[in-house]
This record gives sequence, structure tokens and C-alpha cells, in this order.
Amino acid sequence: MNKSDFFPTLPLRDIVVFPKMIVPLFVGRDKSIKALNEVMKTNKKIVLVTQKNAEKDDPTEKDLYSFGCECKVLQLLQLPDGTVKVLVEGLDRVKIIECRNDKDYLSSSTEIIKDKIDSPQENILALSTAIIRKLEKVINVNKKISFELTANIKHQSNPSIIADHIAGQLNISIFEKQKLLEMINLKMRLEKLMEHINNEMNVISVEKRIRGRVKNQMEKTQREYYLNEQMKAIQRELGEIEDGGDETGQLQKSIIKAKMTKEATKKCLSELKKLKSMSSMSAEATVVRNYLDWMIELPWNSKENQLGKVNIDEAKRILDEDHYGLEKVKERILEYLAVQKRVGKIKGAIICLVGPPGVGKTSLGKSIARATGRKFVRMSLGGIRDEAEIRGHRRTYIGSLPGKIIQQMKKAGTKNPLFLLDEIDKVGTDYRGDPSSALLEALDPEQNVTFNDHYLEVDYDLSDVMFVTTANTLNILPALLDRLEVIRIPGYTEDEKINIANNYLIPKQIKNNGLKDEEWNLDKSVMKEIIQNYTKEAGVRNLEREISKLARKTVKKIVTNEAKKFEITSKNLSDYLGVEKFKYDEIESDNKIGVATGLAWTEFGGEILKIESAMMPGKGRMQITGKLGDVMQESVKAAKSYVRSKSLEFGIIPPIFEKKDFHVHVPEGATPKDGPSAGIAMVTSIVSSITGIAVDKNTAMTGEVTLRGHVLAIGGLKEKLLAAHRARIPRVIIPEDNKKDLVEIPKNILNDLQIITVKTVDEVLKAALTKELKPIEWIEVESLPKSKSGEKPSTGSTH
Ligand code: ADP
Repeated sequence: MNKSDFFPTLPLRDIVVFPKMIVPLFVGRDKSIKALNEVMKTNKKIVLVTQKNAEKDDPTEKDLYSFGCECKVLQLLQLPDGTVKVLVEGLDRVKIIECRNDKDYLSSSTEIIKDKIDSPQENILALSTAIIRKLEKVINVNKKISFELTANIKHQSNPSIIADHIAGQLNISIFEKQKLLEMINLKMRLEKLMEHINNEMNVISVEKRIRGRVKNQMEKTQREYYLNEQMKAIQRELGEIEDGGDETGQLQKSIIKAKMTKEATKKCLSELKKLKSMSSMSAEATVVRNYLDWMIELPWNSKENQLGKVNIDEAKRILDEDHYGLEKVKERILEYLAVQKRVGKIKGAIICLVGPPGVGKTSLGKSIARATGRKFVRMSLGGIRDEAEIRGHRRTYIGSLPGKIIQQMKKAGTKNPLFLLDEIDKVGTDYRGDPSSALLEALDPEQNVTFNDHYLEVDYDLSDVMFVTTANTLNILPALLDRLEVIRIPGYTEDEKINIANNYLIPKQIKNNGLKDEEWNLDKSVMKEIIQNYTKEAGVRNLEREISKLARKTVKKIVTNEAKKFEITSKNLSDYLGVEKFKYDEIESDNKIGVATGLAWTEFGGEILKIESAMMPGKGRMQITGKLGDVMQESVKAAKSYVRSKSLEFGIIPPIFEKKDFHVHVPEGATPKDGPSAGIAMVTSIVSSITGIAVDKNTAMTGEVTLRGHVLAIGGLKEKLLAAHRARIPRVIIPEDNKKDLVEIPKNILNDLQIITVKTVDEVLKAALTKELKPIEWIEVESLPKSKSGEKPSTGSTH
């Protein structure tokens, strides 16, 4: 090993100097400047070694790599800030043998390292030429590497110098450069260089691809913008946009014109600002534009207060003009309107019209709207289970919409319509949320000033809206029911239906179908027949349909010139309406054993319910068939238990309950029936089948039974009596507790029906069965006497 003298040594932070390289360095560290001064003084060489850690300010031997480059100082320039700029030229690759720190600067003794060449010269030359070519390609696409580099090395023939030159210039880490410096085997060094250049090439091509993509994207947006601007210019030219106005300008004007609340205006203007910065064809812009359209088209500004203006006499006239009868209902509506007029505000409970279909709930709603000079909008709540249907969806996707209430408000176009919420009893709750809470917020006059729709995001004032609700049953969620003032419309009697038909439905259908009064004649008696044989309903919807059918067919005949005038009589009625749909007379032909006539209440009004029971040999089992709800099934069981407990009084011998099977059936099971009010009919039917005493066919009954034989009050008395009347049943047994409700029953019904009020089942059976029940005596045969106490049975044990 040829150990040299000690040369001043310069630690380098961020560069590796290779032999034959000329590099400028900026030197600032005290020790280094001293080392340079020493070199200048002695004209010696200097050793440049890279630090392992660039951060280190005062490195010692262990902080330096063991390979460096021996250099010659070409030029030295003292800069005004005290630092020194020095130009050095690399001479040889050296290995540091020893490094000292004993003077004012570092000094080291080194050994010059020559390249190791272990492959044929041509191979090495070929490799270096390949590298130069590759490098030229890199330089062509990446301007970061100086063009001079290739110019310099092109004239070089020494592969070692070529390798070092390139290594010095490559865009690789200091660590990698140092590795190249330490690589003595020339072939390996060249190969490593090739690898780095290839890497560089890859990086460049990826970069280029990305840059290309970004550029494309930008060009596309620019192109869209440009085309949009052109389109606007063309539209302006065509006069589609007013002079000086563009889309956002128009929107801004409309927002101001809509006279929204302060909050809403602010929200809209901020959305508009967002819209301006969006590409007008983008999805977000569509969402914002839709939102603004909704906001602009909603009615915001208060109309003058309508409530004070309502004329109660006029309202009464309108209600009478549109509806026959319903005196109590109309009276309550007028009271309601009078209070609103006095208070000048919509306050208190909301009217809820409850009754079977076709009794005029919707048309009453329309009449109230007409009487109060409001626009009429209707929204069905049937089947709504999702809160979002009432309150809207959040504005997250293109298809999102406000809830139904806001949609209807837009349709109404005024802030104070009459809003009919149909079928409030059909609102349900499930996992999708509870629509009732949103409904409550809309209906409650205390809260609906600030109704919150998810889509609008701002409060909307519903306090000027008059809400009217309808329902078929009182099966309404309790929280909602609490806010409602229930007005019941139980259904019409036959006479009422005839009146409604003659005075309202016929004129309406004549007009609707383009008939003239003189072109047809409906016999008075025909109407009764239509009602009895073609409809079976509490309301008049089907009746209206049948009348419309008559009118339609007549019109057709007139148009086809069959005749000029038509008489519709009971004789030719079936030509128009087809065969009779219902057999009205529902009374049995004779008194039957085990068949009792009950009265039930369903959403469609009152109904006749035949209850049949039969007894057969068996083991005391009980079978129940027919479409019965839980409550009804239970009341069959309760009825049987009651009969069993009173068997001796009813003349029934108890073993029958163990030796016979019982079957209770409720035919006509199409409409599900439930409720306890068929209790007394069940008991009557069971007792009749066991005792073999027939039930009076002319008696219908309704009443709940307790296990001790009391008859409890039932609901829907009017509907049930109407149903009995419709079915021509002359006698009806009702609970004593319902006597008070008889005042609500029309006089003509009470005149036609014999009403028997009862308190106990005994009274029911007395009235309903064709023969009186005779109690019997029955002594249970005691089981065999037990053996005397204390006497142990023989066990056969031996002592
Ligand atoms: P609902 O809403 O209770 O199901 P509608 O309001 O739709 O019933 O009424 C059905 C039809 O019967 C309507 O054409 C209505 O005008 C008519 N109608 C119902 N009751 C009366 C009545 N009391 N007087 C006149 N027309 C009536």
C-alpha cells in the first residue's frame, strides 16, 4: 500500500466529486477555509470526501466515507460574506488510509485506487457507447440533464472517464453516487450506470404520461367553457336571453322576485355563487339549479289573511249546496270556521273526517276550500312509511326532491291553500323512520311556522295552510290523534242515499256525461232498486258509479240514434247494469239451530255477520274458521267458557264438553273482521247448537260479553244499525250502555227497527232463542271413596 503524505481534506455535504470532474464549491466552514488556505500556501493537492451525514457540522474520520477524490484547486475566490468559492478538478479516486483532526483542519493520507478491469476492452467500450446513446435519449426528453455532458463525453474514448463524468451528473442520491465512486470494477460501474439511466428513463416516461393526462383534462374543461360561452353568445343573438342577462343573472332576479324569507334568500344567493364557479354542464350544477328552481317556484309571500273574510252564512250555503244532510257535520265545520274567523289565525285542533269510503269526506274538504276561498290540494298518506316522503331527501344526488308537503305547496302556488291529508289512519311506522313526527310538525300550528324540509334546508312557513284530514277508522297513531278534532260520518240510510242520488249525483252525472234532463227519465222506484241490488256500501261511491254507468249507456244510445228519450224502469234496469250484484234480503228463510246474526263494524261501514256453530262427536276440541282477527278468536273461546260455566242453567249436561267437538265459523271471510262486539252472537250460536234450540232469524245482535255474563257497550252503533236496516232485519239486540247513543240514530231507522237493550247474556238468550232455556239438575258422580287414612297398603315386605 502506497500511503501518501497527509493532505488537507475537505468534507463535502451534498456532492460526490469524481475524477476528471471540474466543479465549483462553496465553502463556509472555518476548518474547511483553513484547509483551503493551507492548499493555496503549499500548492498541495486536496482530498474531497463526502460526509455520511450532511447535517454534521464538524465531522471526523468516522463521519466520512472511506473513498474520496484527490483534487487540484484551480481557482479560489473570497466572497464578501466570508465564504469562499473554489473551483476544483478531480484527479484520482483515493481511499482514505488515515484521517487526522490535529491541526486547524482535517488532513488525511490516501492511497490512489486504479480501476479494476477484468473483461475484454471491446466489451467495455461497447458498454460505454451504449450508455452514451441511452443518455442522449434521456437528454432529449429531459432537459434537466445538461446537454454539455454528452458533448463532453462524446469526445472521450476512455470508458473510465466517461463513467465518472456521467456518474457525477446523474440525478441520483448522494448515497448511490458514493457507491459508484467506490465501485472499482469498471464493468460493474458501467452496468450500474446503465441501470440508473434506465430508471431515469422510466421515471421520465411516467411523468410525461401524467403531464399529458393533466393537459388533456385541462384542455377538455377549457373547451367546454369555450363552447358554453359560444352557446350563450348564440342564444343572446337569438334573443333567448335578454340583453345583458345570463343564466345566473336571471336566477338572481327570480330569487329577489320570489320574496323569500331572509334566511332562504341568503341560502339561495350563496348557492347561486357556488353555481357561478361550476362548469354549467356538471352534475353538481344540475343539483344546484334544481334546488334554486324549487325555491323560486315555491309560494313564499303571504297573501292577505283569508280567515277574517270568511262569511259564515255563505259558507253554510256552499256546504248545503254541495252536500245533502250531514247536518251535524256541517254545523261543526261552521263552528270551526267561525272560531278561526274570530281568532284570525288557524289555531287549535285540525278537523279529521272519519268514516267509510264514499260518504263525502273528500268532497266536504273541497267544499270547505270553496267556502273559505282557498285553493284545494290533496295528498294521500296511505302507505307512507318513510319520513323522507313527508320531509324530503337531502340534496345529495341529482334525483333528490322535497317532501310531499312542499311538493303540494308548489302545486298550490299560494301560501294558504286548504290541504287535505287523506287516509291519516294508514300512516305507518317502521325501520325507515317515523313519518308521524314529520306530520305532527307540519300539522301543529305551534310548530309549523318553521317546518323543516330536508331538501330545502331552510324553514318553510306552513302556518297559513288550513289542514283537513280524513280517515276510515280511528286507528290513528295516538300522537296524531291528539291533534285532531274527529268528526264522524257513519254512512247513509237508504232514504238519505235516494235523496243524495236524486239531488246531487244524478245532476252531476248528467252534466259530466253530456246528457240533457229531457233525454232520460229515471223512475223513482228504480233508485231504491239500484241501491239495494247493485250496491252494498255505507257511502254512495258505488251508487254514483252505477248512475254514471246508466248515463253513459244512455248517451251512447242517443248518439247512435237508437231513440231520442229513454225511460229507465225496474224492468229494463238489468239491460243497463247487468245482473243484480247483491241479494239484499239477508234474513235466513227460517229459524236455524246454531246460526246467529251478529253486527260488525269494518272500515267500509257496518256489516251483517252470520255466526255458525256446530257440535259433533269428539273430545271437546274447539275449531274456529273464517277470516277472524285475534280479538274475535279470543271472544269465541271466552263465549265457550261462559256457556260451559253456566251449562246447568242453560239446560246443558256438562259431559258434553268432553265428548263433543265444537266448530265456530264466520262465513263471508273476504274482509278481515275483528273486535269483541260479536261476543253475544257467539254465545247465542254456541248455546243454540248445544241445546238444539233455534235462533230467531229476525234478530240481529251486537255486544261484548264478559266471562261473568255481562254485556258491555260497543262502538259504531249507527253504522251497525244502518247495516241491520239495509238487510231488512226488524229486531236488534244492543247493550243497555249504548242506549244513550240512540239519539244520534235517524228517526226513520228507529221507527223501522225494534231495539232491545240488554244487560246480561241471559236476557240476550231469552230474546234471541226461539224457546226458553230450562235449567237442569246434575249431580256429579263422586269418585270411589278413598281407603281409610292411616292404613298403609300392603307392600309385601318381610321383617
Ligand atoms: P270519501 O272521501 O268519503 O271516500 P268522496 O268525498 O269521494 O268520499 O265522495 C264520493 C262521492 O259521493 C262524491 O262525488 C261526493 O260528492 C258524493 N257524496 C258523498 N256524500 C254526499 C252528500 N251528503 N251529498 C252529496 N253528495 C255526496
